Amino acid sequence: MPSSILSRSLIGLALCGALAAATVAQVHAAAPFAAAQAPGWYRIAVGRYEVTALLDGTHPFPAHDVLTRGPASLDTTDPGLTDRLLAASYLKAPVEGSINAFLVNTGKKLILIDSGAGALYGADGGHLLGNLRAAGYTPEQVDEVLLTHLHADHVGGVALGTAAAFPNALVRVNRRDAVYWLSSTERAQAPAFLRGMFDGAQASLKPYLDTGRFKPFDREGQLEEGIAAAPSPGHTPGHTTYLVESDGERLRVWGDTVHVAAVQFADPGVTVKYDSDAGEAAEHRRALFADMAQRGDCVAAAHVAFPGLGHVRQGPDGYRWVPVNYVSREGAPHVCGRG
Ligand SMILES: [Zn+2]
Repeated sequence: MPSSILSRSLIGLALCGALAAATVAQVHAAAPFAAAQAPGWYRIAVGRYEVTALLDGTHPFPAHDVLTRGPASLDTTDPGLTDRLLAASYLKAPVEGSINAFLVNTGKKLILIDSGAGALYGADGGHLLGNLRAAGYTPEQVDEVLLTHLHADHVGGVALGTAAAFPNALVRVNRRDAVYWLSSTERAQAPAFLRGMFDGAQASLKPYLDTGRFKPFDREGQLEEGIAAAPSPGHTPGHTTYLVESDGERLRVWGDTVHVAAVQFADPGVTVKYDSDAGEAAEHRRALFADMAQRGDCVAAAHVAFPGLGHVRQGPDGYRWVPVNYVSREGAPHVCGRG
């Protein structure tokens, strides 16, 4: 090829390259960063039931302020243990923590277990209703709300301003929690950091109390077909777990059994300053972990990373959380089999 033609070709190639680079640069510049996350819902099947995990939001959990070295902890004297356990999971305080709730469709009734924080955690919470709609349901369809306890991040979502977020629902909780958190005498005697919890619970339940749709229960056992309550003592006076069971498949729904998975599965003796009886809470957590690991039951956890669905395994050093496998095909997957 004559040199003049070669040089023209090289110039042409260089121009093409420059044009391509400019085009690529333009494409990049034209696409803004999409900061929003995916809607927070995920569906599984438990026997004949459909269970939808719903995210109310995530919030920075101040592990150093809230986690306490309970009496049953592996090491009550090591202030660095929490940081080391967090670091082992590539985390550090404050840990962004999920606020999950679980919608159970039995085919006859739609039952929501816990309701998130609603407005009580500011902009961090209050996304449950949007996620419930995104999952194909309406708040009006919810027949019943079962609460694990009356702390703000579990009860706050039953209210929408001063109105009921679930206008046709009955709201239920163990009576011991109702008696405690609705009492002005208990509020006056409680430590100052708990007073806001009393106010939040009372304001959130008011629309249901006013209309006779708040119905505490007294005993453990079956509340609805396939849903039974079991006491989970130590965190609040009436703290409860719920067992959802259908066709031999079991899902145990936890409230505040675990706040920081990276720490408390390794060391179930780590407690929180909000526990009404830290020793009892730690003892019960150990018993529950052992039971779940032995049975192979599926667990739905309010504060394990969304969707908070998984199994508990016993290992040489405490326990570990095994998230359920993600399935995208049509129809809720049966992931709650025994391990
Ligand atoms: Zn909680």
